[in-house]
Amino acid sequence: MSKENQKQELQGKIALVTGGTKGIGKAIADRLSSNGAKVIVTARNLPDDLDSEHYFIAADVSLPESVASVAEEITTKFGKVDILINNAGANKAPAGGFSVLSDQDWSNALEMNLFTSIRFDRAFLPKMLEQNSGVIIHISSGVGVLPLWQTTMPYAAAKAALNNYSKALSTEVAAKGVRVVTVSPGVISTGSMEAFLKDLAEKSGTSVEEITKQLIAQIGGIPLNRMGDTEEVANLVAFLVSPAASYITGQNYAIDGGAKPVV
Ligand code: NAP
Repeated sequence: MSKENQKQELQGKIALVTGGTKGIGKAIADRLSSNGAKVIVTARNLPDDLDSEHYFIAADVSLPESVASVAEEITTKFGKVDILINNAGANKAPAGGFSVLSDQDWSNALEMNLFTSIRFDRAFLPKMLEQNSGVIIHISSGVGVLPLWQTTMPYAAAKAALNNYSKALSTEVAAKGVRVVTVSPGVISTGSMEAFLKDLAEKSGTSVEEITKQLIAQIGGIPLNRMGDTEEVANLVAFLVSPAASYITGQNYAIDGGAKPVV
């Protein structure tokens, strides 16, 4: 497709990317904007390098009241969201398995990685159903189907719940013209992945290179033998929200260099 045609692809569409200022979310926001959508991004902090075309809303979306106020601001200003990218998510619980995890760790993981998406969906779905069109993407994780008890137990469980919810929702709303798709990245090179690896390395008294090797070994290796780039995830999402993907709903797409060991 020519660059000009690509620019037309999402013309007139309003897209919300939660956590759209860094990492995977930023790559998605920038890509949807260059494909013609009006892009709204949310994050807690306004970044220096925000694309001046994006509409930024500051909010901590792990809090229900913040999701409600973001939804209200968008509805007042734009009237609707056509493309909802539920990207904000985080693995914040301590490493070390079940015995180091408190109720609060479990609750935080569920708030950030499951309930936030549910709340945004609930805010914007009624209008999508009314207009008989819309696309919702849930950014999950490979650990949603391949949990690593050492480092990601509550996060992985929350992402597994997100996968299941996403499938159920897709079935509920398909007949009304709304598509719901899950994307499960593997190991993608972002600031939070770097910080996660650095923290693990410090705690285990080893180097980032060594801990990265161990983590990749725990998931059974990456056949493509490298981490993914945020742009590679954005490429997949840009396709999934486009009219070219009109017959796709209810699926969970791994983008992991071949790491998922089962079909
Ligand atoms: P990232 O680089 O840390 O970016 C996270 C984004 O979310 C930032 O814009 C951040 O901005 C925002 N954010 C974080 N907490 C927030 C909160 N409470 N309220 C509002 N915004 C918040 O993350 P990433 O690695 O790109 O991950 C993005 C998604 O991909 C997540 O759902 C993650 O679980 C998933 N994922 C990532 C990987 C990977 O390898 N990187 C692998 C599998 C799945 P502020 O800090 O300013 O709020």
